[in-house]
Amino acid sequence: MHCLECSAELERLDHHHLQHCCGLTLQEYAIRHHMPLDLLLSTEQINGIESTNDYVTLSDKPSSRAQTLLSALRLSQSIQQQGEFSVIEHGVRRLEQLLCYLQCLRQYGFQFRQEYSYDDNSHRVIAKNRLKTPSDSLLDTMPAALDHVLFSAVLLAEVGEFHAGYVFLRLPKNVAADDYIEGLRNNFQIRCIALDAVLGPNKGLNHGASQEKAGAVKQLYRTESLEDAHRLLKLVEPELTLIPCASERFYADVPVAMISKELVFDSAHFISDHPGKCENLHGGRYNLQVKIEGRIDPLDGFVIDYGYLKSVVKHRVIDQLDHQTLNYVNCDLAWRSSTELLNVFIWEQLIDYLPGLLEVQTYETTQSYCVYRGPKLEDMQAVEANFPLKYFSNQDLGRSSLRKLLDDNPTKKLQLVND
Ligand SMILES: [Zn+2]
Repeated sequence: MHCLECSAELERLDHHHLQHCCGLTLQEYAIRHHMPLDLLLSTEQINGIESTNDYVTLSDKPSSRAQTLLSALRLSQSIQQQGEFSVIEHGVRRLEQLLCYLQCLRQYGFQFRQEYSYDDNSHRVIAKNRLKTPSDSLLDTMPAALDHVLFSAVLLAEVGEFHAGYVFLRLPKNVAADDYIEGLRNNFQIRCIALDAVLGPNKGLNHGASQEKAGAVKQLYRTESLEDAHRLLKLVEPELTLIPCASERFYADVPVAMISKELVFDSAHFISDHPGKCENLHGGRYNLQVKIEGRIDPLDGFVIDYGYLKSVVKHRVIDQLDHQTLNYVNCDLAWRSSTELLNVFIWEQLIDYLPGLLEVQTYETTQSYCVYRGPKLEDMQAVEANFPLKYFSNQDLGRSSLRKLLDDNPTKKLQLVND
């Protein structure tokens, strides 16, 4: 076999050779030279089983830095149990991030492995980059004297995302996560809000369900405002910029793209006070296109995972409108369920979850559609209750002095005058 990096003639291309010749892993070599990974592997390298005997037991107490790193990885649930091992796993694009952790985590006996297995779903051999240690090595870890900056930086590196200037965090739904969010608010004046958890387990904006096995239910948090995101990124900057890959996600200058998801729903509606056919109850199929603009995340090549986009639109919009009479969904649509006001309603349902929302486009028929570009999230936060949809829900409605005339009785008035 011929090494495409150094041109050496080899019996077999293996990690040992690559490490000395170019520093790539077999998976990276396969990707760089666009060849199937299977071609580089011998059958005994696939689905191998490892013994904990290959790992050394360390006697020194881990440093407080290593303890902080481990605590953050635990809160983000980045450490999985696999047989007798505790494992931290990331994709090929985040190898350097794993190796950065490994500098510290060797104190817990962690070692790097690239492991290959035959995947029954995709019918091909896949590679996993893992830091592994026998689970026994993590048993008697003392509670750490936490370095808050490092702790938050690792959390962002593991479960943080950056969209339209807002930081999103996908944390487990438990007391430790609640305490962390509370601590951010109390100690650093960084406010985060919990977004509806109905999005399902493990879903973040760039983490569709497909990427992960079913696990504990996660809670998606978003920094409340742009200033909160700014404060958080400033807090973690000294540490986050040192974590390869993760720092790219938050600080790199990357190109921007627009993505769009199309969904349909069937609804009935009628338009009040309208001298036309539409004042009659009628139904149809609406075609909705939701467009998001944002940075292309260098770690996964997405603006937002289409799966997340679909699940947000489905949960926040489709589930409310599909097979409903639009006039009974919302009080302002009750008056006039035009595509224009429908788009305003849809915008308001989505903007908290999708701050990169660029445009909502709704086709009522194939020939009639409306495009709406609403206010940005930060602008909506600044001027609450100023939108066209707020007329009938406004509590001031009904309080004008003119309303006295609603109960006006001319006969009664005449009598009063005569008296
Ligand atoms: Zn070589």
